Amino acid sequence: MEVNYIFPKRPIHFHDESMSSYLFRLYKNNHFMPNSNYLRELKLTYAQLINNEVPDAIFYRICPWIKESEFISLNNASRILGDLNDSWTYKIIQKNNLKFCPLCVRENFYHKLEWCILPLKMCTKHFVTLQEGCGTCSKPLDYFSFIQQSCMFCQSPLNRLNIEKIHCDIFSNSQLNLIKTLIFKEKSVIFNLEAKDYIELIYASFRFLDGFKDLTGFSQDTMDIFHNQKYKSKSSTILAIAFSNADWMYTSFASHFYFVLDLFLAKFKYTKRYDSFLLFEKIVKRDCFAEIREAFHQYCIQKLESGVIRRDFGVFKEEPQLLQKRKIIRREEVKIEKGVTYGKMFRLAKNNLVQMNQSNKNEYYVDQNTLDMYLKEEKRWITKKEAGLILGIHAASLESLIRANLFEVSLKFSGKSKRINLDEVKELVTRCRGELVKVIPSNYISFHEALIKYTIHNLSIVSLIQLILSGVIIPVRQNSEATLRDIYLENDKLHKCLIDLKVRNLKEQGYFFSDLLKVFKIGEKRLRRLLKEHNILPDIISHYKDGRARFLYKETSKLRIQEVLVGRNSNKGKYNRFKSESARFIENEILMHLRSLKKTWKGVSLHDPIETDKEGNDEITLIDILGSEADDVVDAVQLKIEKAKIYKNLEILDDREKEVVVGRFDLELGGEERTLREIAKELGISRSYVFRIEKRALMKLYQEFYKAKR
Ligand SMILES: [Zn+2]
Ligand SMILES: [Zn+2]
Repeated sequence: MEVNYIFPKRPIHFHDESMSSYLFRLYKNNHFMPNSNYLRELKLTYAQLINNEVPDAIFYRICPWIKESEFISLNNASRILGDLNDSWTYKIIQKNNLKFCPLCVRENFYHKLEWCILPLKMCTKHFVTLQEGCGTCSKPLDYFSFIQQSCMFCQSPLNRLNIEKIHCDIFSNSQLNLIKTLIFKEKSVIFNLEAKDYIELIYASFRFLDGFKDLTGFSQDTMDIFHNQKYKSKSSTILAIAFSNADWMYTSFASHFYFVLDLFLAKFKYTKRYDSFLLFEKIVKRDCFAEIREAFHQYCIQKLESGVIRRDFGVFKEEPQLLQKRKIIRREEVKIEKGVTYGKMFRLAKNNLVQMNQSNKNEYYVDQNTLDMYLKEEKRWITKKEAGLILGIHAASLESLIRANLFEVSLKFSGKSKRINLDEVKELVTRCRGELVKVIPSNYISFHEALIKYTIHNLSIVSLIQLILSGVIIPVRQNSEATLRDIYLENDKLHKCLIDLKVRNLKEQGYFFSDLLKVFKIGEKRLRRLLKEHNILPDIISHYKDGRARFLYKETSKLRIQEVLVGRNSNKGKYNRFKSESARFIENEILMHLRSLKKTWKGVSLHDPIETDKEGNDEITLIDILGSEADDVVDAVQLKIEKAKIYKNLEILDDREKEVVVGRFDLELGGEERTLREIAKELGISRSYVFRIEKRALMKLYQEFYKAKR
């Protein structure tokens, strides 16, 4: 077929005219309408012809006089769809109902390509609403009717034109944006997206807008975008409004975005929420949506924190790392994941250490940041028990180390108990380790042996540690990770140090009244009388809070008393020396015994009165005799060895003495150590009497021990 003969009249082709439009005008000008034979010969279907889907090759066969250069590109539907998937055709391309601009057709009566876009409802040249269908009967228009300019249903001419000017900028900008991306293939105004990404984002956003009134103020319509497929999805008006709403959603980013999401969450529950969020999450995974994805994730975290959505939301399953970004977590999660009890959380919140808020649903939310900071800090503070394990000493000894200011303590952590600075504990054990040796020399004794052995010299765990820290005593050890339990000290050197120390201390500080009693082994009454007779006054008087005074005598005063006493007791010197050593031994024995009892303290208090002086005045308590060093840990095994040495001479005691000593100091096999009170009850005598019997018995035993030693 020679087309030149069929189409002698050739109308001008407009650059923005759709292919279908040009073909229909061509036919009309030549008084010819295509029949099926004609179409078959061109291999063109009727649907292709009326839907603007004419392939380029066929178009050139029909109109060979049109040069390719006259087009920017060919104006069929595939130009609009571009690289969009086929499934978009029905969403983007207007079919079965032609629309046009009433002002454009007054200038030149042809159909423009952009009017094929379904969501377009505005002329981008005149900013008026596109007219859809017959102005008289509202029935859909096709190309035949449009080109003939008369309705095929009511036969009325197409001259009833409705001109509605559009004043809404959001709407018109959105419509321009649509044309730019779909016809001119420019990047979208929002986020600079390719047409394909732009359309996908808009359609994914519809899920959040569906069912809401137009948010842009352009109309009063409700965006029923998905549910009424039959009618709504084909309405270009509703689609155009939805497009402008989706555009609006991404302006003033991210406040409008969050506003829409809030509306959506407030209105919808359950499946719709989950599906829409999940679909959106999938779309925004692409790099081009990075900014939106970030904002979306922020939003999800924030809503999870405030309890609007839950952690089983699909978004969090898809992106589990999002859960780590939360600032606020539900109390239940804190308990499971961080092992913090509700009680502890309450206490921390009460003390303003951790922020915790109660939601209106009676759920508690904990601020992750402050909690983590607290937990991190808490790890630096350990209990006495933990510190004891690191140091290799009993937890009970820690208190005396704390009192000696060896560690910084805090009451901020874990209830009422003191916590000790871990770094300082570690540092102390490192500093006390001394030198690494292959074999421990035989003249060295262990840390604990030293404590037991030199209790007589008032050696406490604190003073021993201080001796080591000061470098006077350098310990040795066999293993690199040694604790105090594993270190050894040179016996002779330690002994000498302690004697030097004691002498120096007494000389520097002076003697309390009670010290003088011990040093000279005389009664309180006698000493008072002596001081009065010789007018020896205390050098320092210190006052207690309760008003009692304590007298301190310096070395010179002590020497004066000694002179007086030596003058009087020159004959009794030997006896006194023995008595003092013996008494000290007894004290020491009691002290050790009390220490071994410390763990299972059976009613003996250091403040229990044990003796009343002859006038029945001041009670003497254990603490008076023992001083304040009773806290130190003494290894129970070591104690037993010492005891065994002393008590092998039991037969020299009388029955009652034996009863008391055996009962008190656990000498029977399987027998338990008992308190003064228990023995007293059993024997039907007073506690102080038991104590006196015990003292006498110990004295006898010591004499025997002393003899054997000599
Ligand atoms: Zn127009
Ligand atoms: Zn009509």
